[in-house]
Amino acid sequence: MKIQLNGIQDERFVRPLTHITQLFFEEADLHFEHIDNPELIVDIKIHENQNIVTANANATHQLTTQTYQAEFQQDVPSNATEKEQFKLVKSTVSYVFLTVLQEVTGMVQQWGILTGVRPTKLLHMKLQEGKSKEEAHAELREDYKIQEHKIELMQSIVDRQLKVIPDLYELGKEVSIYIGIPFCPTKCAYCTFPAYAINGKQGKVDSFLGGLHYEIRETGRWLKENNIAITTIYYGGGTPTSITAEEMDLLYEEMYESFPSVEKVREITVEAGRPDTITPEKLDVLNKWNIDRISINPQSYIQETLKAIGRHHTVEETINKFHLARTMGMNNINMDLIIGLPGEGVKEFQYTLDETEKLMPESLTVHTLSFKRASEMTQNKEKYKVAERSEITQMMDLATNWTATHGYVPYYLYRQKNILGNLENVGYSLPGQESIYNIMIMEEKQTIIGLGCGASSKFVHPETGKITRFANPKDPKSYNEGFKKYTEDKIKILNELFDIQKSHV
Ligand code: SF4
Repeated sequence: MKIQLNGIQDERFVRPLTHITQLFFEEADLHFEHIDNPELIVDIKIHENQNIVTANANATHQLTTQTYQAEFQQDVPSNATEKEQFKLVKSTVSYVFLTVLQEVTGMVQQWGILTGVRPTKLLHMKLQEGKSKEEAHAELREDYKIQEHKIELMQSIVDRQLKVIPDLYELGKEVSIYIGIPFCPTKCAYCTFPAYAINGKQGKVDSFLGGLHYEIRETGRWLKENNIAITTIYYGGGTPTSITAEEMDLLYEEMYESFPSVEKVREITVEAGRPDTITPEKLDVLNKWNIDRISINPQSYIQETLKAIGRHHTVEETINKFHLARTMGMNNINMDLIIGLPGEGVKEFQYTLDETEKLMPESLTVHTLSFKRASEMTQNKEKYKVAERSEITQMMDLATNWTATHGYVPYYLYRQKNILGNLENVGYSLPGQESIYNIMIMEEKQTIIGLGCGASSKFVHPETGKITRFANPKDPKSYNEGFKKYTEDKIKILNELFDIQKSHV
């Protein structure tokens, strides 16, 4: 679709309006100046007067010569800063633009103009500001055009999170830890995580682990010196169980020695995502160090799909490893599923759910496939046939109903760019088995210190909630060369933030 958008000059509009366009058209070509033969012309007018901003949109479809109109107004508080004023103008323009595109295409965007990754964080913020549920919901409906059932989903997730973590809003005084192990047996086609094939690179693994032990020791020392407790620890990657049982054993020993009071940490998760990495020896190690929660990820129970996306393990292996983990005492297992994998529709997804029913993991994370720019799948899009938007929505509805009838509750959600059908990823669990780390990472109420490869740290400012990010490099080579410096830099940021926190106690 070739679209000409008139009346918008300010560069700050380009990104949000491009993003809205992509919600409707996969191959959208949005121009902010005159072009030849546009299929759709959208004229936008903005008026600002007497503390009211109004935007009008007028869209003309060149083929049908049909026109569509929309208007929206918002009050601009007289004490609004320039930045706040612009935010209001931007949301007003986004609103009318979304409305005309909805009319042109007949599509309704369930998340309205909300483009953020964390819708529930927005609702938490409104409730923390002292707004009632009704007021907060009205704002989500009116300011963002979010559909009612999505608002209900957000509220049920927020309620669930506060039930699981009643002190969620006070956890800023503690931290959580993310540890990234960047190795996998092979690389999957949709993957953009730091994941390097482990085969034959043992030397590299050794030096990476040397750096990681150092980071754990130094960070642990700082936490002990400053008397800061850890809420949760999460091993991700890559696949943290792609290293050997002995390497895992030494790593967890380091964690217990270096970090403060690990026995009081509320949850330790190790992703064992790829079933081909799970062995009885590794499960013994996980048990030895009281790891609470693991993830075994089928993604799909259709063998051809696994082959097509480059996951070199069998469906049978997933099922066998699940049973093995269960027999060996793992009683909190998460499984990830992906909606919209190449070649899959409602029938295939229903089959995956039927297989899931035989295992009943404690939690189930349902992702919707997203085409991330760097993945093999996106770069060779024509090779991978994926379902239409309407079918993706049907599969999502299937997941919602299936989880509800099988006793699962949604407890966290996040959205991504380029996600099929502009839907979301939802974490479900049997009540009481929710992952605390997943809630902490989504709601951003506390600092998360990332250690290891591709680990990104999020430092939450104790007063403003503003987030400072710090990313360790994704590849083991750069990490091995610079881990001491990264550790030092992060400790510097931690010192600054926790000094502010102490001065307020
Ligand atoms: S198992 Fe996960 S981290 Fe590893 S390559 Fe596949 S998607 Fe990426």
